[in-house]
Amino acid sequence: THSWDREAIQLIQTLIPKETVLFIADAKIGFDSFRNCMTATVNSKTIITVNPGKDITAIFSYIYIFRTPKLTLATDISMCCCCCAVDSISDVYTVRELKQKAQESPEAFFGITYSFISRLDLDSSLSKVIKTRCSRCKYQVTEDIQNCTNPSCPGRDQALSVSTVFDLWVDITDHTGTLQACTLRSPVAEKTLGCTVEEFTSLTENGRTALRWKFLLERCKIYVLPSAKLRGGIKGTILACALADPGEVKQYMSALL
Ligand SMILES: [Zn+2]
Repeated sequence: THSWDREAIQLIQTLIPKETVLFIADAKIGFDSFRNCMTATVNSKTIITVNPGKDITAIFSYIYIFRTPKLTLATDISMCCCCCAVDSISDVYTVRELKQKAQESPEAFFGITYSFISRLDLDSSLSKVIKTRCSRCKYQVTEDIQNCTNPSCPGRDQALSVSTVFDLWVDITDHTGTLQACTLRSPVAEKTLGCTVEEFTSLTENGRTALRWKFLLERCKIYVLPSAKLRGGIKGTILACALADPGEVKQYMSALL
């Protein structure tokens, strides 16, 4: 046994069923046909946080359901939608503070930043903006295949059912720096842009450019989940984004001075 196995076993013995909440980062999720359920396998890179706090629990519950709808654990969680979870986020950060905290703090956290969208490639080719994913496990697939290619997909033996989703990379910038390559995906992307994938694909090139300029270099109120990457950089997942209210920005800016 590896040391992380021993640590994980000791940890699991202290958990209270249906009460303890675990936030697990970098675990391998797979379908265990012997136990007939989804299982998580830990390794040396896995980070387990016990009872990470109420706000974070709510939001991760949402992300968890959204990304892996077949996991049985999700059925015990009562979250109606992402906006409820977003409502519980109130801490405002500059981009530099977000990066610093993500690098220094072992615990995941969420924050609001009043930043500009400095990169939004809406007018590049459609295939870069819209992806086809398996509707069961959200794995990226091509439509011409019969079954999902994800070996851990819970519906791998069934006919492939796909959904087309936004899969955008955006950079966010304020006076302290830039957080590069943040993910803006469905369903947050639909809410942000105010259009469905279908509506977006029917836009003309000019329409897409106009949509891009509605956000590009505008100050937005962005709810973000930053996390440290292996090689030192910071990536961000956008949970909500909208053009910022000028009054709110003024209040924020005057608090900085
Ligand atoms: Zn799948």
